[in-house]
Amino acid sequence: MSKDYYQILGVAKNATQEEIKKAYRKLAVTYHPDKNQGDKDAEKKFQEISGAYEVLSDEKKRETYDRFGADAVNGQSGFGGQYGSSMEDALHTFMNAFGQGRGGSIFESFFGFESQGGEGGKYPQQGASKQISLTLSFEEAAKGVEKTALIQVAQNCETCNGTGARSASDIQTCPTCKGTGHIQQSRGFFTMSGTCPTCNGSCEIIKNPCPACHGHGQVKTKKQVQLNIPAGVDNGMRLRMPGLGDAGIHGGPNGDLYVVIKVEPHDVFIREGDDLYLDLPISFVEASLGTKKEIPTLLNGSYKLAIPEGTQNGKILKIKGEGFMNVHSKSKGSLLVRITVEVPVNLNEEQKELLRKFQQIESPANLPKKKSFFEKIASFLS
Ligand SMILES: [Zn+2]
Ligand SMILES: [Zn+2]
Repeated sequence: MSKDYYQILGVAKNATQEEIKKAYRKLAVTYHPDKNQGDKDAEKKFQEISGAYEVLSDEKKRETYDRFGADAVNGQSGFGGQYGSSMEDALHTFMNAFGQGRGGSIFESFFGFESQGGEGGKYPQQGASKQISLTLSFEEAAKGVEKTALIQVAQNCETCNGTGARSASDIQTCPTCKGTGHIQQSRGFFTMSGTCPTCNGSCEIIKNPCPACHGHGQVKTKKQVQLNIPAGVDNGMRLRMPGLGDAGIHGGPNGDLYVVIKVEPHDVFIREGDDLYLDLPISFVEASLGTKKEIPTLLNGSYKLAIPEGTQNGKILKIKGEGFMNVHSKSKGSLLVRITVEVPVNLNEEQKELLRKFQQIESPANLPKKKSFFEKIASFLS
């Protein structure tokens, strides 16, 4: 019988993700190999709790485990061992559980290592994240689009396989710290622990660096990436493309790529949230008698809009579902047609004559706003 992952982390079967994470973090800090140098039991325990956390922190794996047991998930996750994960996987899990911050800084704050301005340590570190900006046309933002971008990222050096050394024999255990990555320094009565200055905490020194990457283990390269932009993105949105940033260090996960969206304005449409505005000028005759107008929509061709008799200037007519798709909820906004009633200019004599005639037979009932305005004034003056 394999052990119960819930028991290993000391949580209830119905524990929330928050409780599971909290329990794991607490145990992981206690059993981390850096705090228990050479302690085989602690090492085993650390792998065990990391293996349990790896499964329970993933809802899918957790469900499989609940239904079919540990064997089912171990096969799935690729973790060896009955109790948990390999040390490499366990360290990786640990990094993830602590939020993948700036690499070594997590450990420094937990274990009191003195930072010497470097991201030392041979712990798995997440690669740096990158940010680019991407300009889209209004239509592309509405429809969603596939784009390619050329970005510069650090990738593991192929010549040395990321080790930074010319050959395997050029990597030696650091003589200063004897491979521990840190040194004890006595200052008066106190003994301080600090990052080894010789190896900068990496525990190793490289006698002959790799000529391709000059010992860094990584090289900067241009990489073409495929960006899948969903429909509905807006100006200033930042999309996260996981794993497209710099390559991870010492087996850590890749950094992410953030794509900041810029959308070009449209000649006709103005976007407000998920809604689109369209200004439609009509004549005062059309507004008075009512009419039908062929108007453009952003994605579905033209639309025949009925403008009712007596439509006032500034009236907004709503066409549901012809706005932008909400990038999160996938619901669609509306197309709001704002009516501008245009007062005719450059009238000729015949037109003026017709209007004068109309004026003679116009009744107060034709202009309810005007009527009520003068009624109010009259009562005010009397
Ligand atoms: Zn190299
Ligand atoms: Zn050292």
